[in-house]
Amino acid sequence: MSDPLSPNLSEKIKQRLSFYEDLGLAPFYRYRTASVLLRAPVSPLTVPHQSFVGASRVGGTAPQLPQASAANNPPFTPAQIANEEAILPKPNPKPEIRASIPASSAPLIPLVKTASFFEQLERVPDDTLLRIRADIGDCTRCRLHKKRTHIVFADGNPKADLVFVGEGPGADEDATGIPFVGRAGKLLTQMIQAMGLQREDVYICNVVKCRPPENRQPEPDEVTTCSPYLVRQLEVVNPKVIVCLGATAAQTLLETTTGISKFRGQWLDFRGKKLLATYHPAYLLRNPAAKSEVWKDLQKVMAELGLQVKKGKPA
Ligand code: URA
Repeated sequence: MSDPLSPNLSEKIKQRLSFYEDLGLAPFYRYRTASVLLRAPVSPLTVPHQSFVGASRVGGTAPQLPQASAANNPPFTPAQIANEEAILPKPNPKPEIRASIPASSAPLIPLVKTASFFEQLERVPDDTLLRIRADIGDCTRCRLHKKRTHIVFADGNPKADLVFVGEGPGADEDATGIPFVGRAGKLLTQMIQAMGLQREDVYICNVVKCRPPENRQPEPDEVTTCSPYLVRQLEVVNPKVIVCLGATAAQTLLETTTGISKFRGQWLDFRGKKLLATYHPAYLLRNPAAKSEVWKDLQKVMAELGLQVKKGKPA
């Protein structure tokens, strides 16, 4: 066996790795499979309400917001926020969110352009969703394949203006191969309908395509391995708006470790497309009071897409 490293050398290596990490090179020295991959050619609802009001395409009537007030929507507790903020690798210093945002809506957090994992991705010429699915194949690239039943690729309209990105399949999705069909999925369907749309009008997919055991958050290497396929899906569908559901989706696409509560509801940029992060429907099941915040976010999306809210009672 080789000699252990001296503390001095070990410290120097640590500092050098940290320096590489600051440069955004971590995926290349840490996740070798990912860097190889990058170069490859690559029903009625039973959720607790307050819920979402109905909406229609342009030409509807005035908006009606869910009943929200400081009294019935207390601010998040630190525990709630911590619960929602996903654990991805935490380089030091924190990478900041990169965005191209009009000055008027500039977020409160500073924006710095850093080397990007996704920007290294070579575009696949004439890429298609079928080709992406074929490239995924019967994937065994990460440990998540071991316990999965189905790869959950996507659902909905491949030409949608609006894409929802979740974290990863749960038990129902694993069993059916369709994203967002469990309890959280039913709430997402209700949110989509409240926007005046059907599931068939939007495209729904996830950061990872196989269910993490016990519905744990995907590990950073699992995200790094799977997310290039998500990026290709987003390139092919080419929506006007991407809505990230929850911290994992948002932090993955924005390549940040900043907590979602810091940038939720703000327009950000993902490879030239408008991206808005909001809370995950599973979080709303645990924290129904946050629905009013999410509804405000969805209204922003509706305004961007030319959808108008119609009057209606919460479903
Ligand atoms: N949660 C997700 O993030 N995605 C799904 O497909 C289902 C639940």
